[in-house]
Amino acid sequence: MTQTASGGAETSVDVTATSEVTPTTGSFDSLDPRTGEVVGTHPIHDESAVREAVRLARSGQQWWDELGFAGRKRRLDAWRRVLVSRLDEGAELVSAETGKPLDDARLELVLVVDHLHWAAANAAKVLGRRGVSSGVLMANQAASVEYRPFGVVGVIGPWNYPAFTPMGSIAYALAAGNAVVFKPSELTPGVGEWLRRTFAEVVPEHPLFQVVTGFGDTGAALCRAHVDKVAFTGSTETGKRVMAACSESLTPVLVECGGKDALIVDSDADLHAAAEAALWGAVSNAGQTCIGVERVYVVDSVADRFVQLVADRAERLRPGGQPTADLGPITMGSQVEVIREHIADAVRRGGTAVVGGTDSVRPPFVDPVVLTDVPEDSPAVTEETFGPTIVINRVRTADEGIARANAGRYGLGGTVFSRARGLELARRMRSGMVAVNSVIAFAAVPALPFGGVGDSGFGRIHGAEGLREFGRPQAVTRARFRMPLNPMSFGRSPRTVRRLVALMRLLRGRR
Ligand code: NAD
Repeated sequence: MTQTASGGAETSVDVTATSEVTPTTGSFDSLDPRTGEVVGTHPIHDESAVREAVRLARSGQQWWDELGFAGRKRRLDAWRRVLVSRLDEGAELVSAETGKPLDDARLELVLVVDHLHWAAANAAKVLGRRGVSSGVLMANQAASVEYRPFGVVGVIGPWNYPAFTPMGSIAYALAAGNAVVFKPSELTPGVGEWLRRTFAEVVPEHPLFQVVTGFGDTGAALCRAHVDKVAFTGSTETGKRVMAACSESLTPVLVECGGKDALIVDSDADLHAAAEAALWGAVSNAGQTCIGVERVYVVDSVADRFVQLVADRAERLRPGGQPTADLGPITMGSQVEVIREHIADAVRRGGTAVVGGTDSVRPPFVDPVVLTDVPEDSPAVTEETFGPTIVINRVRTADEGIARANAGRYGLGGTVFSRARGLELARRMRSGMVAVNSVIAFAAVPALPFGGVGDSGFGRIHGAEGLREFGRPQAVTRARFRMPLNPMSFGRSPRTVRRLVALMRLLRGRR
């Protein structure tokens, strides 16, 4: 059966060619949030199907590992070329399942491709065996460390960037030599299946990249399927459940959760650039970005001008279902009420809706909303809104802005606009990533680690840290010759230890 994803050109979504896992508890549809049309039908994989997927993935892992970094790079490079050649097809699918404008979907896949390139190109350098100094006590040893793959990595993903976000784990885990079982969001299973199918085209020998589809139960089953690591991206509440399930088997976890990122505007900032960035950060992808700008702290002396610049731009933006809309719909229907309540509560508590208001919520769309002077304890300031809204609050100094930014429970990304103090302010932000005088730039730099602190989770995807996340460091010593003084033998004499103590006094007992 072939279905056509809505939103323009023919997109082949062959839903029968799903992973080789047998579905056992029925199927579900993924829908286009703009129209409610069915994009694809997918199996609900239950516990036994998930275990089978892990078994299949594991059956090819050793082969994948033994290809070595160079062999895997060749395959991952080939996958990258397939993704580039089919970029429009993938973008149609991303757009159909999330509702995001087609160019935003294309941009997402451009980032996927660049990260895949980086992971494949750098895995050997970052993870391959390297010698380390063996030190004075073990001078006879050749010491080295290498990152060996865990085995099978379970990847659980969200829907807001259904290709880019999970590929931050999938590409890096594969480059490190792991097999992968991916559980995409129930809202975007087709994108997950598309990734699996394109990979299988360049690695037909073994089913080492599996996809399991379904709801939370399928994800929970993956946590309990004896995978060797779980990389989760999604909400903080689900992240806690994932950790709890993984704790039963001491399965290590990487947890990438929500955020409430702040943007600081200092008195010397380029206000036009800051307004442009604030709006893109807050409203692009209809605000459904974990590292989106949700609140702004602007220094009093420039606040009126800044608010005006943001408002002028926000008023011109319109959501819609057409591929060229400025922003698409709210992908997850249940979030609409959260967005409406955050706006209503902010206004009830004395905040001002400078652009839009509760009337801006027209499901499935929400027009951009700009709120000012919202009390700091309002959900619009403390909780993830995940809609095209922005709160702009005034502060006396940029330092006060940093203090307020750091007061929240999340710590994912952040932004600073300042000519003189950019890096200084950035370093004081309690977050995993900061962009100075631009917004979200760090996510598009493959060499930079991505992840947060606090309720935003822990562990890193992307960059060298992201590669190391998917390998276990293995330390090896190799004896090159016998030491004249060997303290680790029952044959040692008392003189041996005395000499070692004297040596340590000499070398380490002084300044
Ligand atoms: P979610 O937590 O509802 O779901 C995420 C995934 O977890 C889905 O695949 C879901 O089926 C699965 N799941 C649900 N219950 C589960 C359970 N008990 N055990 C295992 N898996 C389970 O999140 P969402 O609504 O899909 O995504 C939006 C959230 O993701 C936002 O909070 C956003 O900030 C966050 N996010 C974070 C990042 C990041 O890198 N930090 C990136 C993108 C999105």
